[in-house]
Amino acid sequence: SKGAALVTAVAQRLASRKRQVDETLAPFKLSQEQLQLVKATMRAGLEAGLKNKGPSAVKMLPSYVYHTPDGTEHGKYLALDLGGTNFRAMLVKFKKGLQNNTRLYHKIYTVPLEIMQGTGEELFDHLAQYVSDFLDYMGMKKAHLPAGFTFSFPCEQTAIDTGILVSWTKGFKATDCEGHDVVNLLREAIKRRNEYDLDIVAVVNDTVGTMMSCAYEDPQCEVGLIAGTGSNACYMEELKNIEKIRQKKQKTEGDEETPEAVEDKQDDGSKGDKKAETSETSRMCINTEWGGLGDDGSLDDIITPFDAEVDHNSVNPGKQRFEKLTSGMYLGEIVREVLLDLTRGGLLFRGRVTETLKTPGIFQTKYLSQIESDRLALLQVRSILQHLGLDSTCDDSIIVKEVCGAVSRRAAELCGAGMAAVVDKIRENRGLDHLNVTVGVDGALYKLHPHFSGILQETTRVLAPQCNVTFLPSEEGSGKGAALITAVARQK
Ligand code: BGC
Ligand code: MG
Repeated sequence: SKGAALVTAVAQRLASRKRQVDETLAPFKLSQEQLQLVKATMRAGLEAGLKNKGPSAVKMLPSYVYHTPDGTEHGKYLALDLGGTNFRAMLVKFKKGLQNNTRLYHKIYTVPLEIMQGTGEELFDHLAQYVSDFLDYMGMKKAHLPAGFTFSFPCEQTAIDTGILVSWTKGFKATDCEGHDVVNLLREAIKRRNEYDLDIVAVVNDTVGTMMSCAYEDPQCEVGLIAGTGSNACYMEELKNIEKIRQKKQKTEGDEETPEAVEDKQDDGSKGDKKAETSETSRMCINTEWGGLGDDGSLDDIITPFDAEVDHNSVNPGKQRFEKLTSGMYLGEIVREVLLDLTRGGLLFRGRVTETLKTPGIFQTKYLSQIESDRLALLQVRSILQHLGLDSTCDDSIIVKEVCGAVSRRAAELCGAGMAAVVDKIRENRGLDHLNVTVGVDGALYKLHPHFSGILQETTRVLAPQCNVTFLPSEEGSGKGAALITAVARQK
C-alpha cells in the first residue's frame, strides 16, 4: 500500500541520515591503540621538554617549587589570580598545623575583553586597580602584605618570583607582555598608582597552585590538573632529570640556591649518605604546559578538519593544539563547526545555516554540560537550543546531543591519555612497580560537565594500569596554593 511505502521511505531517510551523522562523527571516536599512541606521544613530549635543546612543543617549565606543604605554613597572605576571564583577589590566613582552619576572603573581578586584548600596561593597571579595590574592601591598604601571583599562562621562570611570559593563550593578546617578566609588570603598575605597597614573593601557574592546595590536605598529591577554559598539568619531577636547571647551574657556579647544592650531593655517589634528606629535597614541580603537545605536528593523525578550522579561527593558530582538543574554550567551537557541516549537508536544522550558527562562542561549556546532562529530557535540550537562537526538531536535538557527546568524550579521553603518561613517568622515576598518587584538579569542565570527569578517570585507569590515581577536586585551589607557596618562600 501507499501508506506502507511512505513509512519505509521515511525510515530509510532516517537511517541514511543517522549513517551520515555517524560518518561525520567517526574521526572523533578514538580507538584504544590511538589513545595508547597519544599517551606515548605525550611521554615523548615530556622527555623532550626536560632536555635543553631549545624550544619544544611541551614546554616543561620549572616552577622553583621544591616541596608540597608540610603544615608548618602560617601567617597572612594576599593571593592574586589571573585565570581565564576572571581576576580574583584573596586574603588567606594559615595557622600552623591546622589544615582545616584556613581562613579565606576573596573578591572576583571580570576582566573585560578589550582589556584582555589591549595594551599590557592597561591590563596590569587594571589588575593593580582591582587589588586596590580589594585592599579597600578588606581595610588593609597600609598592610604591605606578602603576595603570591597566580598567573595561568606559560612563564619561563628563573626564580620563584620571576616569570617571563612565553606566549599568551586562551584568547588573551595584550601587547608588550610576551618576553617580559609579569611580576615586574605588576610591580610597575602598582608603583604607577603610588597608593599601596605589596611584596610579590612568588609567581605560580594555576596547576601548581592547585597541586599545592590539594597537597595541603593529602600528602600523596604530587600532580596538578586544570580542565577548564584551558588545559594543563604539573607534577613533581626529579631535579636530576631537569636538564635546563642542571645546565644553568653549571653556567652560574657559586649560586647559593640550596636545592642545587643538594643535587651536587646526590650526583656524587661517594657522598650519597644523605639519602633521606635528598629524597625530600631533590624534586621540583614542573609546569608541563601540555596544551602545546602537537604544535610540532605530532597529533596530526587525530586532528579532524573541524579542529583545523577552530585552530585557524583562533587568536593563536598553530599553537596549543592539544589544548584546542581538550579545553572548555574550544569544545563548543568544535561542536559548532560540526553542526555547521551537518546543516550544510542538509542533515540538521532543515538545512538552514542561520546567523546564530555562524556566531563564534555561542556554545559555552555550561551549555554543553546542560545539553549532555542525562537528567534532561529532549524537550529541554530543544529549549536550550531555542535559548541560543536555534530552532530544532526533536531529531535535531538528538543529533546535537550526540555531537556534544562525541566532542567532550574525546576531550576527556585525550586528557586521560596525557595523565596516564604523567603518572607513569613519576612511577618510573621512582623505580616502582606500582604507584599511588593523587591528582589535585580544578576547572569547570572537570567540575561541572556531567561525564568528563568519569571518562577522564576511566581512561587514566586503563592506560596506566600500574598506577592507582585518585582525583581530588580543589577548593579555592590556585589562590590558596599560591598563598602556601608564598608562605614557604617567606619562611626561608
Ligand atoms: C595555559 C596554562 C594554564 C592552563 C589552565 C593554558 O592555556 O597555557 O598555563 O595552566 O591554560 O588554565
Ligand atoms: Mg583559574
